[in-house]
Amino acid sequence: MTDNRTERLLEILAVTYGTRPWNWHTRQTPFQVLIGTVLSQRTRDEKTDEAAKALFSRFPSPELLASAPEEEIASLIRSANYYNTKAARIREISKIILEKYSGNTPDTVPELMQLPGVGRKTAACVMVYGFRKKALPVDTHVHRISNRIGLIKTRTPEESEKELWKVVPEDYIMHYNEFMVKHGQNICRPISPRCHECPIVEFCEYGLERQRA
Ligand code: SF4
Repeated sequence: MTDNRTERLLEILAVTYGTRPWNWHTRQTPFQVLIGTVLSQRTRDEKTDEAAKALFSRFPSPELLASAPEEEIASLIRSANYYNTKAARIREISKIILEKYSGNTPDTVPELMQLPGVGRKTAACVMVYGFRKKALPVDTHVHRISNRIGLIKTRTPEESEKELWKVVPEDYIMHYNEFMVKHGQNICRPISPRCHECPIVEFCEYGLERQRA
């Protein structure tokens, strides 16, 4: 689907969810977005923000985090899942950024992906939310909903990222992840999507199929 249906449904999602990032940790400095995104792995948004706020109120920079005691980091981020593992990673990431990049968070996906615990999706989130540069973070929500709507036909998030670059209009690249994540949390749930109250049902292959059934 590369016609203006794509543009129209994205316009509707922009009105529905807004274009300002919803989560606190995605509106901070690039370094804090990076650490916040590591905290967000397998953790709910509210818990991620709770951990990020506690951590950055005490240690807001790579300089301070690199020399912070690991147990103290773990205790501050207790609301995030896997907080012990994440505390070790956060300290290690901070040290690398300090030593290798003079305290500046790298702004390319390949460099970000060299950091411990940083995969492609996390790196892309840092590009979008930290640096406001074009990238397409694709997680299971983004992969699932894009396929349900019929924007793409893919089997894996990796394939989806490649295909989405071809169909998402340039103006919406930066917002696409946020729209899909919010839509997945609110309406297009993994099980029992609420198609009857979905604002983009008329543009969705799955929703239209259900209406016809
Ligand atoms: S119509 Fe249904 S399947 Fe399609 S996007 Fe909306 S909730 Fe999801």
